[in-house]
Amino acid sequence: MKSHSESEHFETNAIRTQSDNASHKEHSTPIFMTSSFVFDDAENARAMFADEISGNIYSRFSNPNSNELVEKLCLLEGGDDGIATASGMAAMYSSMAGLLQQGDHVLASRSLFGSTHQVLTQIFPKWGISHSYADIHDPESWESLINEKTKLIFVETPSNPGLDLVDLEWLGNLAKKHNLILIVDNCFATPYLQQPLKYGAHLICHSTTKFIDGQGRTVGGAIIGDKELIQKIRFFCRHTGPAMSPFNAWVLSKSLETLAVRMDRHCQSALAIAGQLEKHPEINFVKYPFLPSHPQYELAKKQMLHGGGLFTFEVKGGVERGRKFLDNLQMLSLTANLGDTRTIATHPASTTHSKLSDQERANVGITPGLVRISVGLEHPEDIIRDIENALKLSES
Ligand SMILES: *Cc1c(COP(=O)(O)O)cnc(C)c1O
Repeated sequence: MKSHSESEHFETNAIRTQSDNASHKEHSTPIFMTSSFVFDDAENARAMFADEISGNIYSRFSNPNSNELVEKLCLLEGGDDGIATASGMAAMYSSMAGLLQQGDHVLASRSLFGSTHQVLTQIFPKWGISHSYADIHDPESWESLINEKTKLIFVETPSNPGLDLVDLEWLGNLAKKHNLILIVDNCFATPYLQQPLKYGAHLICHSTTKFIDGQGRTVGGAIIGDKELIQKIRFFCRHTGPAMSPFNAWVLSKSLETLAVRMDRHCQSALAIAGQLEKHPEINFVKYPFLPSHPQYELAKKQMLHGGGLFTFEVKGGVERGRKFLDNLQMLSLTANLGDTRTIATHPASTTHSKLSDQERANVGITPGLVRISVGLEHPEDIIRDIENALKLSES
């Protein structure tokens, strides 16, 4: 594996970092659909297993396609090493499970992806690993939740679906002061908009399923960051098996080649549409990190390049109106994904977060009429027309 690119530019690194296993002078990296790799002789096999020489042995451990994806993500995030995983959740889970011991405690932001919440509340307690949730709106309270058992901090920023931000510089300093490992789920921002390792995070977790794939084809994940921590997690992954398939790694590495241009367009359209909807009489509020009305607008400008591909708004008329709005959309997709070329609308109160109490929903910024839009790459005029039309048709 050779990195051909050491540019200071994101796009060049994302495109010009390529596996050098070319045997037919192919320009685009081939797909290495092979379970295992051949040893030169018995001595070579011994040395490879003893980690005396590096190389691919078996695709559960490594493969040229996943190596290429990881190499690119390391350059883009500023990490020294990484692992590609079968899904985003395999990355979230393995990053913690590979480092934690029985008795350890995790401090996490309350505004977490649903399955990460299940890992912390339903799975880790089986092995004696506890957690505390900190309120994203009350940074002063975080320090008081750290105890002598606390080993790591896990956060997402911007959060889903609240689109609230954690101040990465502040959090990096807090982790450093208490000697804690800081893990950031950077799925919403992607390394193009934000690089948390710069602020003192130790590991980045991705669901590559979202903007990194960007076209709704594969499920995948990655863990990128500090070499020593990755080595421990690699041991865990090598023997428990959450490896990414070579095919998905190939798709995702190709996807990184267009991440910058796609994100520019996602963000440009999201800002324009969110700004226009702010003036709509049937909408109470719009939330988007790069709109001056966002309570953390200054922080967003400081730690993100653009505001991201998602915005939320609250339609007047509560849960019923929210559902009616979705039923009157003609172009936008109703589906459980985000970061696709196709614009997607979701109504968290009646779907993903319907099992929570009103108070629990309020804690993570979900009001009854809240709608989340993942802005795709269609022409922005067609997206806004569909939203405005559904707003009109859902009026009672
Ligand atoms: C989707 C998502 C995940 C989980 O990723 P999968 O690829 O679906 O396993 C984790 N965190 C965030 C913020 C997500 O949006």
